[in-house]
Amino acid sequence: MKQNTEMKLMAGLWLAVNAVTGSLSAAITPVPDKVACAVADHQAFTQPDQLHLTGWLGSRVEANEANRLVKIDVDRLLEGYRKRPGRQSWDGEHAGKWLHAATLAWVNTGDPALRQKLDYAAAELIKCQQEDGYLGTYLEKDRWTEWDVWAHKYNLIGLITYMRYTGNRAALPACRRMGDLLCNTFGDEPGKRDIIKAGWHVGMAPTSVLEPMVLLYRLTGEKRYLEFCQYILRAWEHPNGPKIISTLLSVKRVDKVGNGKAYEMLSCLNGALEYYRTVGDPQILQACLNAWKDIVDHRLYITGAASYGELFHDDFDLPNVANVGETCVTVTWIQFNAQLLRLTGEARFAEQLEHVVLNQLLGAQKCDGSAWGYYVQMEGKKPYSSTLDGHCCLSSGPRGVALIPTFAVSTDAAGVVVNLYDAGTAKLSLKDQTPVTLVTETRYPAEEQIRITVGLAGEKNFTLKLRMPAWCPAASVQIKGQPVALTPGPDGYVAVQRSWKDGDPVELRFKLEPQIVVGDHKNSGKLAVLYGPLVLAADADLLGDQLQGTRAVAFATADLAALAVTPEPAPDKFRTWAGAQVFRVNAIPRQASKSGQAVTSLPIRLVPFADVGTSGSNYKVWIPIGQTEGNLLLEEKESRSRRGNASGSITDGDPDTFVVTFDGKPAAEDWFAVTLAAPADVKRVVFVHGKTFHDGGWFDASAGQPQVQVQTAEKGKWETMGVLKNYPATTATSAAGLTGGERFTCELPNAAKVLGVRVVGKPASGDDPRQAFASCAELMAE
Ligand SMILES: [Zn+2]
Repeated sequence: MKQNTEMKLMAGLWLAVNAVTGSLSAAITPVPDKVACAVADHQAFTQPDQLHLTGWLGSRVEANEANRLVKIDVDRLLEGYRKRPGRQSWDGEHAGKWLHAATLAWVNTGDPALRQKLDYAAAELIKCQQEDGYLGTYLEKDRWTEWDVWAHKYNLIGLITYMRYTGNRAALPACRRMGDLLCNTFGDEPGKRDIIKAGWHVGMAPTSVLEPMVLLYRLTGEKRYLEFCQYILRAWEHPNGPKIISTLLSVKRVDKVGNGKAYEMLSCLNGALEYYRTVGDPQILQACLNAWKDIVDHRLYITGAASYGELFHDDFDLPNVANVGETCVTVTWIQFNAQLLRLTGEARFAEQLEHVVLNQLLGAQKCDGSAWGYYVQMEGKKPYSSTLDGHCCLSSGPRGVALIPTFAVSTDAAGVVVNLYDAGTAKLSLKDQTPVTLVTETRYPAEEQIRITVGLAGEKNFTLKLRMPAWCPAASVQIKGQPVALTPGPDGYVAVQRSWKDGDPVELRFKLEPQIVVGDHKNSGKLAVLYGPLVLAADADLLGDQLQGTRAVAFATADLAALAVTPEPAPDKFRTWAGAQVFRVNAIPRQASKSGQAVTSLPIRLVPFADVGTSGSNYKVWIPIGQTEGNLLLEEKESRSRRGNASGSITDGDPDTFVVTFDGKPAAEDWFAVTLAAPADVKRVVFVHGKTFHDGGWFDASAGQPQVQVQTAEKGKWETMGVLKNYPATTATSAAGLTGGERFTCELPNAAKVLGVRVVGKPASGDDPRQAFASCAELMAE
């Protein structure tokens, strides 16, 4: 009932706003472009004042504005500009990213406090521009070395967005002067600098300035800005360039573009699509479509995250924990899908948007909107932070949420398109300017009914396009009680063309049910549970007394009926919105020997990825199937003396993945350790050898066989219990035939209650005495 009242109030507010401006649908008239685009969008960019969401998405959009964007300390954003250099090399990016997100949020809410802050920030930022147009945070001697073209990119995006929607044209000369400085500084004519050398990641960081330079060209009609964009496209293909378009057209793999850095690459591709829209070069669209397909088919996590260690890697190389899911990548992936959706009008991009927004994006945003996570991985803790220091992602996340109203509902040549389902009101204009209102009532994704009421002044023939979620096994649509045939068109939408009247109801039902995804590649032997569009995860806060931590959880089976996944209202701690739910599921203890009994079903509650780990607790998406009799260290916490450069694990039950201690330096000692969440009786330790290389990867036994040590108190002293029996007579330079996968055991004299186990020895150097390292595939205990 409350929702309805709010919606009526919202509708009333709208009438008032519109009466003042006289606009039919949007309250704000943006400053128009001078240059028309060569390619017409299939779906319109929805100006955020046209769509007010009041459901789950709406609560996150509102929290983003109220608890993050309006609370930002503008003087902190400007600090590095007022007193150069900035406190870190990319400190300049936050101002423009905030201006972009905060402008969109202000257009959405009309919040006068945010507008005041925007006006102050824009005016003060412009005051920091230097005589020649420079608006970065570097000292003159250090210009164009790392991240200052990048900062200009964000200042252009921020100020152009601010100017476009506030109508405050004072920002335009500042943007022109930035654009002119870039045009005068960089180019392939003699006497100009090479932009590829002006920043990181094979020049992908500086050349991503393409996006706002296209916008500046459209806004001003100045040809030199377009020529600069064409220079960037040439520079990409220079011998020292990242070869973005050519690689995506030939090899069709994003991990082969430049150095594979995901955030910078997607930023470049978003600029490339803006260029395509403006100029219409079909090769560029094809390259971007190839990139999209490659990411979706080979390089996307189950939550919609892309990249680990901030890079795209080999096919299906998707570890759960390895600096996974940088939020900047999540947001540029959202922008990329939104661009492709507008340009092609195809539902498959909206499908990705629903998935990444409802899972990875909302999972990176703290539920109250106040903080963001940098890497939001498939397991671990959410690293929420609200400072900007060293955190590119903390100014990116709010941009992603502020963009939701721009694509959730849209219009096309035939009528209206619904991409994302959330309660709220959309005030749209058809192509012939006929105003249409859609009022959506639902608690989706907590309930399967969605009611959309069409609002019109009179009768009107147009098409309503509805996205049928790909995850949904059984959908139904009724208009005024009459069922609609659900045959999607070539664009993937179910299109209903008819003569609509004011008040016509559209009733949708997307059957919500659990689904299991059996893991493959790095997650073989594990499964993940989905419910409707939501990816679920175990949360240490909801495991009860019998399971200590998410590592102690397993499923007995991959049989959906036996798991008996059932939604329940969320307990207070997880009640992040009115429809918040958790999901009861039958789990078992991972360790048979720890519980001292056979498989016992223990009901636990899974939490949507968006809400999991909210209180700082540990969470985990991929849960092992089956109990383990043997290995007490399985899935426990691992560490080693040196980080090394291999991404495996020694507690994943998979001896094919290994870790090393390689860092290019010698060392007298190396160790591989596992610490347990709860003490266990250990009788035997098994060390599975990792890979040996020409320059090391084994222990040098001439200094003594590798030792097995245990820890009996948390952070206690390591005590030696024995050595790895039968470890061969290796030396610093000879592996004595060891190649990898061999097992060495150590019986413990007295079965001890231990909290930690480690193997220690002297690393070997092979043929390169300047360094030494060891390797381990798995450390096990019985
Ligand atoms: Zn980031």
